Amino acid sequence: MARYTGPSCRLCRRENMELFLKGERCYTDKCAIKRRNYPPGQHGQGRSKTSDYGVQLREKQKVRRIYGILEKQFRAYFQEADRMKGVTGENLLSLLERRLDNVIYRLGFASSRTESRQLVRHGHFTINGRKVNIPSIQLKVGDVIELREKSRKIVAVTDSLEAVVRRGVPQWVELDRDAFKGLIKTLPVREDVTTPIQEQLIVELYSK
Ligand code: SF4
Repeated sequence: MARYTGPSCRLCRRENMELFLKGERCYTDKCAIKRRNYPPGQHGQGRSKTSDYGVQLREKQKVRRIYGILEKQFRAYFQEADRMKGVTGENLLSLLERRLDNVIYRLGFASSRTESRQLVRHGHFTINGRKVNIPSIQLKVGDVIELREKSRKIVAVTDSLEAVVRRGVPQWVELDRDAFKGLIKTLPVREDVTTPIQEQLIVELYSK
């Protein structure tokens, strides 16, 4: 599947906030946002005037980049969120949070969603005992995600599980570090997404 292969830090500078796309580096002084906090490109430090459309577009791009999703798939998520009962923006965030790659990142098995996606593609995890390799699988309450026996010595995973203490695990999932297992306790709600996101702007953009 197509994916963005350019520099990750450039995306953070474009959105003017830390999107935490590079794992541990994001928590150090090497973070590009800390060193060059202006948009990339020749005119990055120039004046910029932003229209309503521009603000909505940037919010959509920001969320798309946080979760590492291409435009077509993101729009499909929006359409599904729109069909669901409840508030469309909140449904959208819930769908994004319930992706397998995001859950593995949230549980702390990976230090970024990119790393998580790669681990899934390489078949290191099972859901309810069945091997999986599709990062976009939607998880539901009661699903058990487990790192396979043969994958438990991967240094990136053990390092990440150490670091999850600092990042914390959201309350809608449960991590059993010793058993290399995670459980979906409840569906994520709006309050579980602590990243500053104004999902209403995305709804306005797609509703034009
Ligand atoms: Fe973004 Fe991480 Fe790069 Fe900082 S180090 S700019 S948070 S990807």
